[in-house]
Amino acid sequence: MSYNDNLQKIETRIAKAAQTSGRDRSDVHLVAVTKTVDVAAMEKLYDLGVRHFGENRADVFTEKVAALADKTDIVWHYIGSLQTRKVRAILPHISFLHSLDRKSLADEIEKRATEKVACFLQVNISEEETKHGFNAEEALAFVQSQNYQHVEIVGLMTMAPNTDDEQTLHHVFQGLKALQLEIEKLGIANVPCHELSMGMTNDFEIAIEDGATFIRVGRALVEEN
Ligand SMILES: *Cc1c(COP(=O)(O)O)cnc(C)c1O
Repeated sequence: MSYNDNLQKIETRIAKAAQTSGRDRSDVHLVAVTKTVDVAAMEKLYDLGVRHFGENRADVFTEKVAALADKTDIVWHYIGSLQTRKVRAILPHISFLHSLDRKSLADEIEKRATEKVACFLQVNISEEETKHGFNAEEALAFVQSQNYQHVEIVGLMTMAPNTDDEQTLHHVFQGLKALQLEIEKLGIANVPCHELSMGMTNDFEIAIEDGATFIRVGRALVEEN
């Protein structure tokens, strides 16, 4: 395998899913989840044109940002659960936080940030015990009760359950889309909520059909397949 082959296969899958659902390919952003690979691998992906990178551990994230600092057009996404005490270290480097999963984290970002931080509210649509995030009701209450200047809610993010059952996956992704539209319609300051971060290796076509604007792909990109 080569990263180039993997990228092309993913690109074909994205294009097909976009076409099937009558969407513009350019409305779907591919975030390369590189949590399982090293900096050398990321450099290869960069040379193939990848610019959006996603990481899920604060310490590794800051190391990789430092190692790739000369590549100034990288867009860094933080996708993992984030401890409050790590906010200060990663804040200067992230373009998107996909995992805003609790009010205390938003409070800390508000306190530390000096400019707006683009955040996805993480919603546990399937209400699995093991998953982080707000449920739909809590997400609605949260956006309506906050008054942040630096925390900008650009959209919603979810992790689908680990299943091949397409109906279950559609149910989750369509649930997130419905909530996104509902929040967007409220027209709250600093809550544009236009975006949907959903879909990973196993389910990104389904997510695209249901409106994903950011897909987070790891294994299909970096593993032999
Ligand atoms: C690891 C991870 C991904 C990528 O998952 P793959 O199945 O490897 O594509 C996406 N989102 C989050 C939050 C992750 O932790």
